[in-house]
Amino acid sequence: MPSDATGRTHEIVTDVPDRAMVIFAHPDDAEIGSGGVVARWVAAGCEVTYVLCTNGDAGTGDRSLTPAELAKRRADEQRAAADFMGVKHVVMLGYPDGELEDTREFLGDVVRAIRQYRPHTVFVHDPYRIKGFQHRDHRKAGLVTTDAVYPFARDHLHFPEQIRRDSLEPHKVRELWYWGMDEPNVIVDVTGSIDRQIAALVRHQSQMPGFNVPPGETIGERVKRHAAQLATGHGFEYGAVFRRLIARG
Ligand SMILES: [Zn+2]
Repeated sequence: MPSDATGRTHEIVTDVPDRAMVIFAHPDDAEIGSGGVVARWVAAGCEVTYVLCTNGDAGTGDRSLTPAELAKRRADEQRAAADFMGVKHVVMLGYPDGELEDTREFLGDVVRAIRQYRPHTVFVHDPYRIKGFQHRDHRKAGLVTTDAVYPFARDHLHFPEQIRRDSLEPHKVRELWYWGMDEPNVIVDVTGSIDRQIAALVRHQSQMPGFNVPPGETIGERVKRHAAQLATGHGFEYGAVFRRLIARG
């Protein structure tokens, strides 16, 4: 098993679950964070649900756009990207961009999505990253999702009205995968799916100016350069890394 510069090893994951969920703060975060793996898993028959937490209405440097116009445009872009990826369900929670908080309401929304769509694996931002700047919404989405996965979605006495009134059942998520982590422990070969990830990512046309692609390089080339670095020593061309937590029992 190859190791990274600090001597840690990454397990190569080839298993594909029956259902997965990607929970993310802003339109485009899912394609960046887990797009290569989702494209690969959808092709292998996995049913994927997207849960978009904010409407992305602060994500522009263009002062001619109103927040409402931007939110509409970004919702359209996200639907187009999800459709292209073959994502089965898209839940849009609609919180204002930059205003995600660790509230009972937000936690209940994420618990409800998990109980409704019942994923084996959940992907989300790593809320514990400290070796680099991270958007506040990413931390909040990561933290609330971590709590929703365990124990809130699993235990019937949390948000009991969802069970009593809305006929949902508790659900135990088996694996939680963080992207944007300081210390990954798993890698997935995305050589066969990275072009699909990039094609979905460029559906977010409103965000292209903010990606800060170096002169002479396309967004696709940048994604591939990074993925090739991650795959070094693993025997495949492009990789995506995560920090995986596995539920006990
Ligand atoms: Zn974001």
